[in-house]
Amino acid sequence: MSISKVLLISCYELGHQPFSLASPLKFMSDEGILVDSVDLAVEDINNYYDQIQSSLLIFVSVRMHNALRQGVRLSQKIRTINDRVHLCFYGDYAGLNAEYLLSDSHADSIISGEFEISMVELARLILNEAYDYKSPPEGVSTSCVKSEPVLQRMPFLVPERQGLPDYSNYARFRDEHGKLHLAGSTETTRGCKYECLHCPVTSVYHGRFFVIPEDVVLSDIRNQVEKGVSHISFTDPDFLNGPSHAIKIVRLLNYEFPEITFDFTARISHLLKYEDLLIEMKNSGCAFVVSALELLNDDILQLLDKGHTRLDIERTTKMFQEIDLVWRPSLLPFTPWTSIDDFLDLVDFVGSNDLINNIDPVQFSLRLLIPPNSVLYDSYSHSSWMGNLDAANFTYIWHHSDLRMERLWSEINDLVRESQKLDSSYYDTFIKIEKLAYELAGKDMSFSKFVTQHRPIPAGLTESWFC
Ligand code: SF4
Repeated sequence: MSISKVLLISCYELGHQPFSLASPLKFMSDEGILVDSVDLAVEDINNYYDQIQSSLLIFVSVRMHNALRQGVRLSQKIRTINDRVHLCFYGDYAGLNAEYLLSDSHADSIISGEFEISMVELARLILNEAYDYKSPPEGVSTSCVKSEPVLQRMPFLVPERQGLPDYSNYARFRDEHGKLHLAGSTETTRGCKYECLHCPVTSVYHGRFFVIPEDVVLSDIRNQVEKGVSHISFTDPDFLNGPSHAIKIVRLLNYEFPEITFDFTARISHLLKYEDLLIEMKNSGCAFVVSALELLNDDILQLLDKGHTRLDIERTTKMFQEIDLVWRPSLLPFTPWTSIDDFLDLVDFVGSNDLINNIDPVQFSLRLLIPPNSVLYDSYSHSSWMGNLDAANFTYIWHHSDLRMERLWSEINDLVRESQKLDSSYYDTFIKIEKLAYELAGKDMSFSKFVTQHRPIPAGLTESWFC
């Protein structure tokens, strides 16, 4: 069997079979470029020694912060096996951290935004020995050429999933009865039309988004259903950026596969605005919706440009209860502006609204990341709490002025890690988080608005991270 000269590696894609492999694989194969791929989330890189050794070009997908950490470790390993290979990092986090990745020799080139066509061009030049790092293809940054993220609409193709690890390797969908099902994923749009300050999508797409044609989306779903998948996660940054597109896809999906369930992510303002669509989606197989609640303090929500208020969060909570649809809020409790009372307010809200089982405990430990080259850094670079760039950890360091918040963050991190090791319930972990927060605040827990959880564990994926 001949070994390809191009290797695509995905580090981690939130428990899903990587779209960031499947999509460029199709673009490459249509151009006749022979490519191997490996998903490090479920495969052992040591089984790919020969491919690494004989590759001329290796692409490493880093679409999120955790993936970038792994990608950097991986690049060191790759360099020891093959010091002539061209290493290209692609994905939003590659673009944000381009200077560090290029200057520290982790990468020879970087692509962000709509990456597929630039990847094909780069592969073609390298395979034809025509690549010049001083004049790379459009959208490719090198140590001497800085390219902007690619933000041109491209001809979307049905992702090539044939050679990827099968779905039994990935996160399952757990229904409301606790039964596990094979889960697949796809995207119906890319980018986002909003510009929330802390969101990495903002720093790359700057309010632009691209719609993937419905026949491409449906074909991708069809291919996955044929492989046994019975649940689809729509992994768009915001599924409701194009509401008519979203509902059209849902109707087509439900018409062809009435038994398939699905989930999606959307911002709170969209959920409130499109309540009628939400009801139709629930009746068409929507099993749960993820949405970034973040925290409840209106001033901080405004600073982050979230486009929702505490009142909106209360209305959304009520709306999901009335529709009887599962809401899985994601959180951002630790920011330089969050007070310990804000944190208590958040746990009280979660406890008193029967949301404990809807929120993975790891969400209570999330801390604001400030990537280099982000809009967030540009906006607050002169603030007293802003520290130096920790380039190797891909974030600016910041310290809270209230040391109790730093301690709370660190202790919740330990607590959540321990709970995951012991496989503790969300409920038990939540109680410990609540107790810790009240103790550090020096307040009596009898003021807690905690109510006993009365709903069963809601439907979700068997993966803690979903943002
Ligand atoms: S947080 Fe959500 S709505 Fe805001 S910019 Fe990011 S993806 Fe868009």
